[in-house]
Order: sequence, then structure tokens, then C-alpha cells
Amino acid sequence: MKEILCKLLVIGAGPGGYVCAIRAGQLGVDTVLVEAGKLGGTCLNVGCIPSKALIHAADEFCAIRGMQQARSPIGIRVESCSIDLAATVAWKNGIVGRLNSGVAALLQKASVKIVHGRAAFRDGKTVAVETETGVQIIRAEAIVIATGSEPVSLPDLPFGGRVITSTDALSLTNLPERLVIVGGGYIGLELGTAFAKLGSKVIVVEATPQILPLYDSELVRPVSRRLEQLGVRVMTGAKAKGLSAAGDALLIETSAGREEELPADRILATVGRRPRTEGSGLQELDLDRAGPYLRIDDQCRTSMRGIYAIGDITGEPMLAHRAMAQGEMVAEIVAGRKRGWDKRCIPAICFTDPEIVTAGLSPAEARAQGYEVRIGQFPFSANGRAMTIQAEDGFVRIVARADNNLVIGAQAVGNGVSELSTAFALAIEMGARLEDIAGTIHAHPTRGEAFQEAVFKALGHALHI
Ligand code: FAD
Ligand code: NAD
Repeated sequence: MKEILCKLLVIGAGPGGYVCAIRAGQLGVDTVLVEAGKLGGTCLNVGCIPSKALIHAADEFCAIRGMQQARSPIGIRVESCSIDLAATVAWKNGIVGRLNSGVAALLQKASVKIVHGRAAFRDGKTVAVETETGVQIIRAEAIVIATGSEPVSLPDLPFGGRVITSTDALSLTNLPERLVIVGGGYIGLELGTAFAKLGSKVIVVEATPQILPLYDSELVRPVSRRLEQLGVRVMTGAKAKGLSAAGDALLIETSAGREEELPADRILATVGRRPRTEGSGLQELDLDRAGPYLRIDDQCRTSMRGIYAIGDITGEPMLAHRAMAQGEMVAEIVAGRKRGWDKRCIPAICFTDPEIVTAGLSPAEARAQGYEVRIGQFPFSANGRAMTIQAEDGFVRIVARADNNLVIGAQAVGNGVSELSTAFALAIEMGARLEDIAGTIHAHPTRGEAFQEAVFKALGHALHI
């Protein structure tokens, strides 16, 4: 097979890699993209998109079932309802398929050459790809490693049989009657909530004293309340120890140090993800590591000249939008533009019920960094729009420097608050002061008004509370 020579080779077509390739192609860089699986990577195929589709289906079903079971205060009456999970999964697969084709079309439009197969480094400029028709050698001036991450399994709880990954959970066509989830982090709680709404009896086993340990307890409280309402049993401070002798239950050690068996039809293990560094010949290059991840500088350069790394393989936060931002930046650097990582915040959202969004620093983080802070918090129970959509639980919180009112953090918990992440990130990235947000007209009636009200509160003159 003839060798391919190119200026830029991107390995992995997840959100990091495909965005990098599109932007490089737009800038006229001769680009090749290698992908072993499907375009779109984890996020599009087995992560962000399918999980949000399942969460939406579960929300719809739960709302309708709620109307059937209890007489809805809105006045809607439903006689009966059921869900065909196979049809839900087919609908979800349809969305994924549309997006796969969309990414392929965008890459084609940007004149990116796609090679399907697994890439392995031969040296710092050469990669061999095992394609269906043989080995394809590609030589490139610059190479971007965007091979992403994969689920971690616990040593005593290997995947297989009843023990499933998030990928398996997103394609179940039969609802597990009893679902035990190991790990009360992002995936465990997003999917656990969805399965509880679909009708599974869910137990979440979390090793730390709080679910979603990354978020402060005030933000997590409404999520815990809702899990309780949904009948989810949350066991914090509890560790998974393996399968029971009969293999039909999860053996755990509770926070009190007792052993307990939790019978389960499925055990979903979501205890984190690790960088995908195996199988791509990375050991040949001996790149510097930061823990298990590839070490990068503020231009995503690794320790070897001409080799960049982006996305989950470079560490936390392992989020699709971070991977995309790194990909876009690296493409511009390879095209000769002057760029460096100078972001003030990477917003994060947990798509639980209610949703949690954070951008910048929490009050505790800001204080730990030595800032004196001004904080404003506004509850959705005082927001007209939230009342009209029966979504009064939660609040918006703003964190600003006390000396100059510069906004350094914004957080919210509430129904649909994921959409507020844009306003939060924009304010922080643009260096807004409290007065800038207070002086911006926020349309009425919206949940976004709670953002402005939190700011008014921080300035000492809230209007609606
Ligand atoms: P990936 O998306 O993992 O893509 C890497 C690609 O590289 C893969 O397609 C893989 O096949 C390919 N590859 C690997 N090795 C090779 C090789 N040697 N040769 C060729 N190809 C190779 N993030 C969010 O921001 N929001 C969310 O709502 C969200 N939800 C999630 C839900 C779930 C269930 C999961 C699992 C993850 C979720 N994430 C979410 C995280 C998000 O999916 C990742 O942060 C993101 O996909 C990382 O992008 P990436 O480009 O670094 O790698
Ligand atoms: P996570 O790090 O969010 O949560 C893992 C949880 O498992 C932690 O709370 C940890 O304390 C717990 N745990 C670890 N070992 C345990 C044990 N033996 N017993 C019980 N609990 C244990 O990891 P995840 O949920 O697997 O998600 C992986 C990554 O995917 C996330 O870090 C995030 O970057 C990404 N993701 C993002 C989103 C989003 O942005 N909405 C959604 C899903 C996934």
C-alpha cells in the first residue's frame, strides 16, 4: 500500500480529534484522521449524546406515568402508559447515526482524509494503521494523539455477565428490575436517575461520604432529595467488594464496616475512566506522563517535538467541550497561528434531576485561593418561570471578588439549568463584573433571571427576594 504523507495526522475521531481535523482542514492544512471505531468517539456514540437521549426518554416517561398515577395538579389525565425500551434504544441509535453522518460530511467539506483502522506509532513521525485492506503507513510533520479514555473496572468486579459498563447500559433493550450502580459520580447518577424513572429499582453504592464528591454539598442536596423521591437507595461510604458467591448480588462493605449483599439483575460499574494509552504504540515514544495521562503544556505539546495530545488522554476534566477547545487550538497552532491555553473556566454540567452546572470557582475554592468573596444566591422558588414549569427546587449562585466585583464563579442547581452554563462561562471568560450582569436586561419570564437576581443579591439589592 502506498505511504501517505501529510502535514497533520490526527489519531482518534472523538470530539477532540474530529474538531481538530475539521479546523485544520478549514485552514488549508493537509490533514489525515485515523479512527479505529466510529466517527464521534465516546461522546457521540456511547457517551454524551446517547446518555442524554436516554435521560430525555426517561424524563418523558416518568412525567407521563406521574400523571397517570397521581392526579396531575395541571389537570392532565392519562389512562395508561408503558415504554418499549427497544424502540427507545432504536430512536437513540437514529440520533447517533445522524450525527455520525454529520461529522463525516463536515470532515469531507474540510477536505480531511479519513483512514479507518487502528493506528500504532512506529516513530515520532510515522504511524502504521491496520486497515481492512492491509497496513497503511502514514508519515506526518505533526501528529495529534486524541485516543480518549475507557471505563475503569474494579479488580474484583471485572466487566462481563451481570457487571456492565455505561456502553452496555445505553443499549439495554430490557429494563433491569434491580439495578445496582457502583460509583455515585457523573455516569452513575445520570444513568441511575434515568433507570429509576424508567421503573428499575436502583441502588447507588458510593465509596466517599457524598454522592458527586466533585460538587459542593449545597449543590448536591436537591439531587439527593429527588433520588429519594424516585425511590433510589443511596449508600455512601460503602465499597464494592465483588460478586456474591452465587454471582447474583453485589457484595459491599457498608459505611458501618458490615458486609451486605445487594441482589441485582445488572451491576453497572461507573468508577471513573482511564486514558487510552494501550495499543497505539505509545510505549515506543516514551512520552512524559502526568500520572496515567500524557503530560502537555499550554499548547497541548507533549514532551516530543511535533507530537500533541488533546482530550481525555491529557487528564481532567474529561469533558467533550474541553477536548473540542483543545482540538481547535492545536489545529490553529499547526497552521501557524499564535495560540495558547488561556481559558478562565471550563464549565461542567451534571445532567441529573435537577441538573447541576458549575463554572469557575465555588465559594470554598475561591477562599482557598485567597480571595475575599461576595456571594449572591437566588432560589428558583422566587422565580416566576420556574413556578410555571413546576421546577422550583434549586438556586443560582454567583461568586465575585470582594475588592473589584470581578465574577470568578457561578453555579446553579435546578431543572434545565444546563442552558445557563453559556451565560456563566461567557461572564467569566469576558471578565464581567457584577455590575455588567446587573446592567444587562434579562428577558422575562425566564430561569435566566435568577442569574441577574443572584447578582443583585451579591450587590446588596435583590429585587424579588
Ligand atoms: P474519545 O471521545 O474517547 O475518542 C477517542 C477516539 O479515538 C475513539 O473513537 C477511539 O475509537 C479512537 N482511538 C483510540 N485509539 C485509537 C487508535 N490507536 N487508532 C485509531 N483510533 C483510536 N462529556 C461531556 O462534556 N458532557 C457529557 O454530557 C458527557 N457525558 C458522558 C456520558 C458517558 C456515558 C460517558 C462515557 C462520557 C461522557 N462524557 C461527557 C465524556 C466525553 O465523552 C469525553 O470527555 C470525550 O468523548 C473525550 O473526547 P476525546 O476526543 O478525548 O476522546
Ligand atoms: P466519576 O469520577 O464521575 O465518578 C466515579 C465515582 O465512583 C466517584 O464518586 C468515586 O468516589 C466512586 N468510586 C470509585 N471507586 C469506588 C468503589 N470501589 N466503590 C464505590 N464507589 C467508588 O466517574 P464516572 O461516573 O465513571 O465518569 C467518568 C468521567 O466521564 C467523568 O469524570 C467525566 O469526566 C465524564 N462524564 C461527564 C459527564 C458530563 O459532563 N455530564 C457525564 C458522564 C461522564
